[in-house]
Amino acid sequence: MAPSLVLTGARVVLPTGVVDDGRVSVAGTRITAAGPAGAAPPAPADAEVVDASGHWLVPGFVDLHNHGGGGASFAGSAEDALTAVRTHRAHGTTTLVASTVTDDLDLLARRAGLLSELAEQGDIAGIHFEGPFISPCRKGAHSEALLRDPDPAEVRKLLDAARGQARMVTLATELPGGLDSVRLLAEQGVIAAVGHTDASYEQTVEAIDAGATVATHLFNAMPPLGHRAPGPITALLEDERVTVELINDGTHLHPAALQLAFHHAGADRVAFITDAMDAAGVGDGRYLLGPLEVEVADGVARLVEGGSIAGSTLTLDRAFRRAVTVDRLPVTDVVKALSVNPARLLGLSDRIGSLEPGKDADLALLDAAFTVKGVMRRGEWVLAPQLP
Ligand SMILES: [Zn+2]
Repeated sequence: MAPSLVLTGARVVLPTGVVDDGRVSVAGTRITAAGPAGAAPPAPADAEVVDASGHWLVPGFVDLHNHGGGGASFAGSAEDALTAVRTHRAHGTTTLVASTVTDDLDLLARRAGLLSELAEQGDIAGIHFEGPFISPCRKGAHSEALLRDPDPAEVRKLLDAARGQARMVTLATELPGGLDSVRLLAEQGVIAAVGHTDASYEQTVEAIDAGATVATHLFNAMPPLGHRAPGPITALLEDERVTVELINDGTHLHPAALQLAFHHAGADRVAFITDAMDAAGVGDGRYLLGPLEVEVADGVARLVEGGSIAGSTLTLDRAFRRAVTVDRLPVTDVVKALSVNPARLLGLSDRIGSLEPGKDADLALLDAAFTVKGVMRRGEWVLAPQLP
């Protein structure tokens, strides 16, 4: 198909590296060409040509862990969920997995039914159940009264309610039923994520051997790394089979902890997530996270009762900018953490995660300071390009 849109002049991040004077062609919902301008055929006369000189073109971001944004959450109505999705899309997140928080099991099953419809329509990329199968010792912003041990029958109940749209379950694998639940998830093709856990190093190794492949917001809601008790962090960082989620908002992680994880796991095993709640893309104020009240001040969300950090107000464009300008990570590594790796984890690498012919035209246009100036999803601008 002849391209209907050609983006020229940008620094394009391709799987092979950065091309300075790059060109990306789009026809319908797909990318038809991506590469150096010199190697590309001339744009057809009837194609729209967008001169993106001085800008970056990167693959749309993929968020594995997100509870809401734009004043709405994935615990509300379908309209609320779509508000959250649209808020994050305007910040470059073209693929998003909706996360639930601990709640009553029947309520979670009903919520999963609603979210599965949105997944079937392609609005979200599936569901991540964070809780209720987590440790009371590391509950973070989850209601203690509603926590339960990971009974495989109850895990299966949630998977059934999600009608094939469950993508990930975060659980404390050291609890009774934990390892059996991990095996069940692995069998069902659902990611078993170790998180909100009080597991030892040895127990975490067992969980990985049973099939766990993701660390839910590494460092947060788990025992710290100690030299005589290396804990889950060490086990998760050292195993090639595991991808570690990091919340790069400057609050959840010290920059040195991020460097430690990045250097140890390598750029192919890190996924930046938002863990965003309703306040993302809005501002300070009072919000709800599941059944719990949260106060957001200076962009930091904390439980009103007890003061635990309660999700973030992060959007992935900010995580990108911070990773390049504060953490000084190479742009190609940041693209891996924001697009390539999460797409691979979701089994969607054939469609999204990189700028290659045949893939969905999901891309973010960033200026030289890494601020989002345009977002395209499946060939349509969801944020029209703002170019000088
Ligand atoms: Zn979360």
